Formats: sequence, structure tokens, C-alpha cells
Amino acid sequence: MSAVEINCRNCKKESFLRREAIYEGFSKVGERLFCASCGFEFSSESEVPFLERAVKPVLFDESDRSEKLDLFEEEEGRRICRHCAQYVVNPFTQFCAYYKREVEATDSCENFLLRQEEPDENSPI
Ligand SMILES: [Zn+2]
Repeated sequence: MSAVEINCRNCKKESFLRREAIYEGFSKVGERLFCASCGFEFSSESEVPFLERAVKPVLFDESDRSEKLDLFEEEEGRRICRHCAQYVVNPFTQFCAYYKREVEATDSCENFLLRQEEPDENSPI
């Protein structure tokens, strides 16, 4: 049986699915599903957070890619609030933490500071 990769919600890690057969007497009546990393038990097959790796286009490795992206942003001159580390957005307003005033996502300014993207575990990149 090949290992099934999952993205565990409990330990927030990429892990593998561990299956454990449930026996009643000598006959197999079902399976229990666990995270191989933290041991969290998923209540059913549909609860298992399978890792969808196949949909990712593999063009560069990770280090390669972030470097190319940063260069791209600078070359394009996209020094706009949307890409700025000081840009704060919430449901009510878009706000510049530097000037302490409302801004538009497409505004630009002298004090632009490129935001370093945090790797977001929840985004389906
Ligand atoms: Zn886990």
C-alpha cells in the first residue's frame, strides 16, 4: 500500500495517513484513520485532509521561486500599498500603519516596504 499524504489540521504538518483495521472476531469490519505524525484520529474518510500535491505545477524549487518573485515585484515597480508590509486591511478599512491613515490598495508612497509573505498553511497554493 502506498503512503497517502495528508495535511493534518491537528498538528498543522504534512504527514501520512495511518490506517488501522478494525476486527470483529476474525473479520475486518472497518478502518480507523490516524495522522501518522500526531496520532489524531479522523472520524471518517471524508474528514481526512488529503494533501493535494498533484495540482501544484512544479516549475522551480521553493528557494528559486521566492527569489524570482521578489525580483519580479521590484522590476514591475509595484510599490503599491497592497504589497506593503505597513498595509493593514480589515473588513471596515484599508489602513497604513506608517502614516496612520486610510489608503487604497493601489496607492503608492516613498516609504513602501515590501511585505515578506508568510507561508500560509491554509492557502491552497
Ligand atoms: Zn497530525
